[in-house]
Amino acid sequence: MSFTTIGVIGAGTMGHGIAHVCALAGQSVVLYDLDEPRVAAGLRKIAANLDKGVEKGKLSADDRDAAVARIGGSTALRDLGGCDVVVEAVPEKLSLKQEIFRELETVLAPSAVLATNTSSLSVAKIASAVADPSRVIGTHFFNPVHIMALLEIVVHDGTRDDVLTRTQAWGRAMGKECITVRDFPGFATSRLGVCLGMEAIRMVEQGVASAEDIDKALVLGYRHPVGPLRLTDMVGLDVRLAIGEYLARELGNAAFEPPALMRRMVAEGRLGQKSGQGFYRWDK
Ligand code: NAD
Repeated sequence: MSFTTIGVIGAGTMGHGIAHVCALAGQSVVLYDLDEPRVAAGLRKIAANLDKGVEKGKLSADDRDAAVARIGGSTALRDLGGCDVVVEAVPEKLSLKQEIFRELETVLAPSAVLATNTSSLSVAKIASAVADPSRVIGTHFFNPVHIMALLEIVVHDGTRDDVLTRTQAWGRAMGKECITVRDFPGFATSRLGVCLGMEAIRMVEQGVASAEDIDKALVLGYRHPVGPLRLTDMVGLDVRLAIGEYLARELGNAAFEPPALMRRMVAEGRLGQKSGQGFYRWDK
């Protein structure tokens, strides 16, 4: 049986997108963040993306209105008490995710599932913070969530089978293609994607070619839908830098080490799409 009442922690890039696809699939959603302005910003982005869907003829105005009506905002964790699953999409920091799951355990029913949208952290380590780690699973969505078809489901050694099957059913209900991956650093997607991204940045640093031409090499030469530098901009250089550092350490592989150019850009606030400037200039 799939989940019908969903909690989303964090209304940022990923959280608002997850809330959007759940609501559009007919699920009730509580979108939680630290303060009202952040929740309101997430809700505004969802409404804007749904409006675009109506403009493009992908959904009806009635479906949009129904989806919007299914999402409630919250800044009080107890509002998530009735959820079947809560997915956290807070910044990529182990202690933060552990702390949130620990708090959630005190408000959720024992049958509720704790899902993490981590891109690379160990799901088992996140799960180790709670009394019942068997209810914890990784649900790695992709950005933008309402467009990307993939859901990478990550099981740690202790994840219960019924938690996996319910999560797979949930993924299908949202119209996602699910892959199931073991809890290994970087899973399948981040390990491959980040490796390519770091190498592309090193190539810019070495003056091999411009960012545009490096991206074209993979888009036109290998039929990638988007080049690795544009993708790094879309994900956020700061987010990718943290993942790169983690994978370099965990996998003992220097290919994941963030290049000096990337560190400089992050220090200067050139974070990609969200800051308006990365390897490309973006309209904010
Ligand atoms: P983001 O910075 O856009 O959003 C994070 C949100 O979490 C913010 O709204 C922030 O206010 C909120 N937050 C921070 N601390 C909180 C707390 N204690 N309680 C509740 N909310 C809190 O980050 P993001 O890009 O959405 O990334 C979130 C997670 O998703 C990370 O683990 C990231 O690795 C993963 N991820 C990101 C992408 C991507 O493309 N950005 C893709 C896949 C997975």
